[in-house]
Amino acid sequence: MRPSDLLQPRPEGLYCPPGDFFIDPVKPVDKALITHGHSDHARAGHGAVLATRETLDIMAIRCGESFAGSTQAAALGEEIAINGVSVTFYPAGHVLGSAQIRVAHSGQSIVASGDYKRRADPTCRGFEPVSCDVFITEATFGLPVFRHPDDREEIATLLKSVAQFPERTHLVGAYSLGKAQRVIRLLRDAGYSEPIFIHGALQRLCDYYATQGIDLGVLEPATVDKGGKTDFAGRIVVGPPSAFSDRWGRRFVDPVSAFASGWMRIRQRAKQRGVELPLILSDHADWDELVATISETGAGEVWVTHGREEAIVRWCQINGIAARPLHLVGYEDEGD
Ligand SMILES: [Zn+2]
Repeated sequence: MRPSDLLQPRPEGLYCPPGDFFIDPVKPVDKALITHGHSDHARAGHGAVLATRETLDIMAIRCGESFAGSTQAAALGEEIAINGVSVTFYPAGHVLGSAQIRVAHSGQSIVASGDYKRRADPTCRGFEPVSCDVFITEATFGLPVFRHPDDREEIATLLKSVAQFPERTHLVGAYSLGKAQRVIRLLRDAGYSEPIFIHGALQRLCDYYATQGIDLGVLEPATVDKGGKTDFAGRIVVGPPSAFSDRWGRRFVDPVSAFASGWMRIRQRAKQRGVELPLILSDHADWDELVATISETGAGEVWVTHGREEAIVRWCQINGIAARPLHLVGYEDEGD
């Protein structure tokens, strides 16, 4: 059996012919295995969905309870047989509930890692390298120029600005699943114990994180209905990046606009978005993490997807690892 007989790209997503299932399909299918809850990977409308308990819960919160015909929770490390194909979920370190999926059949094993990162994240389980014949890696930040700094330094920059401008409101743009909760938890770890104000779009996911044992401290809704605008002077408000460019964002007094994203490494991007305080905080592996992970899996072959495939493919070839881009379509990560 060739690896491409076990998993192959189709317009709907990665397909396993012997198992008759898709991984993170972008169109409705009969059987879907889902790596994590970001909207480009976790879509509603499939017949049956297999994912971690947390990913199923997150999908229900975001897409409604009836997001799939039926659901099955996969425990991490538990081997599940689907039409004779062995399937096992392992932590990916990307967001709460995120998993890599190992698919094995007839002596051939492939790990579809979904989105992942390697640095410690207090809001989810750390990535575990899984040995395999073929490793499928993302390449969102797959260029040597992308080296993410220490997240504590970025949070320290934010807190320094808050101290420096006590009369201004700090608006922190952060994607609603994963990044927002990570920013809030990192602020708590840095000793910030004031209430943090959140946009309504974050409420249910923040509540869910709290039920999973991730203490986010005191969160209050960032509504200005009661009281005056000056209520938010010196405060930190966290919301989805899009919220700060609409009417909601304009109610705050002389705000400092911050944005937590791996793309903030690129000054031009920060400028284009009108970001005054770029925070380089990514839920994706940077260049060093990508190449270290490829080495650790021991895979003889690497398939590269979502992003800058060419540089990673080149790096593999130089290092004696067969590699090719997968050209999957429909993945624009909402949580970079
Ligand atoms: Zn993601």
